[in-house]
Amino acid sequence: MNYRHAYHAGNFADMMKHGLLLVILRHLLRKPAGFCVLDTHSGCGLYDLDATEAQKTGEWREGIGAFYDAPTPSETAPEELTDYLSIVGSFNAPDSPANRYPGSPALIASVLRPQDRLICCELHPDDARILRRNFRDQPQVAVHERDGYGALKAFLPPRDLKRGLVLMDPPFEKTDEFDTLATAMRNARRAFPMGIVAAWYPIKHRAPVRRFHDTLRDMGLRDIVDCSLYLRQPTDPARLNGCGLTVIAPPYRFEDQARVFLNSIAPILSPDGEGYAEVTRIVEE
Ligand code: SAM
Repeated sequence: MNYRHAYHAGNFADMMKHGLLLVILRHLLRKPAGFCVLDTHSGCGLYDLDATEAQKTGEWREGIGAFYDAPTPSETAPEELTDYLSIVGSFNAPDSPANRYPGSPALIASVLRPQDRLICCELHPDDARILRRNFRDQPQVAVHERDGYGALKAFLPPRDLKRGLVLMDPPFEKTDEFDTLATAMRNARRAFPMGIVAAWYPIKHRAPVRRFHDTLRDMGLRDIVDCSLYLRQPTDPARLNGCGLTVIAPPYRFEDQARVFLNSIAPILSPDGEGYAEVTRIVEE
């Protein structure tokens, strides 16, 4: 386990994933009944962009940094973008340079109501320790140092809560991660039929992504939407050319909102302005 998210926090991939995550959370927040989020690969929860790790790669500068430089989005910026930027902004002091970035656990925890719950899993002992420390005062957030895939069986369906989301965001260090993810998505859906299931993946070239979606189709899963953000055409498989989020049972109007959000960030995140987004229905309801 070499991957540490502190090197990548706030990069373009985090922005796309977290903006879409917030769209889903806003939908869940519309109803008064509580919901549960299971975040299977949580990382540290909250990141210091002045820390050695973030400074070493500087990835965040071409991600959230591009938006920190222009903290007031234009009047025409869509609500999906202003909502996300305002949540990220709430982790930073108003009159000093922004240097903190919320990972998925901090972003989720920031919108929870008393009736909602968040279950976080993180396998790396150091990151799990930081994660636990970050949420020690929030009783609705449970932190487990354990395998997130194994957590599906342990925590689904959530006790007492009928609605919710399973977010899977593995580091893709293993060559069979797409297959593992597809199986995990099916297992999550079976165990929590009322839940939304979302999984992030990297795009180097298109072939592995096509196979991943074919696998989900062949498993007989229904109601799947895929969102992709490309920094450039994925012609060089040695580079990270984009990333995607595949969502099973997305909320009402998710496709429209995802398109609006991704189109608002894609040109800014792409160094040479070639960035673009695609939102595609993979399987009908
Ligand atoms: N979801 C986080 C966010 O958006 O802020 C980032 C997660 S990062 C991409 C992936 C994390 O998964 C790493 O912190 C890594 O240590 C952890 N990890 C790797 N394998 C795992 C496993 N089997 N179960 C749980 N966590 C794992």
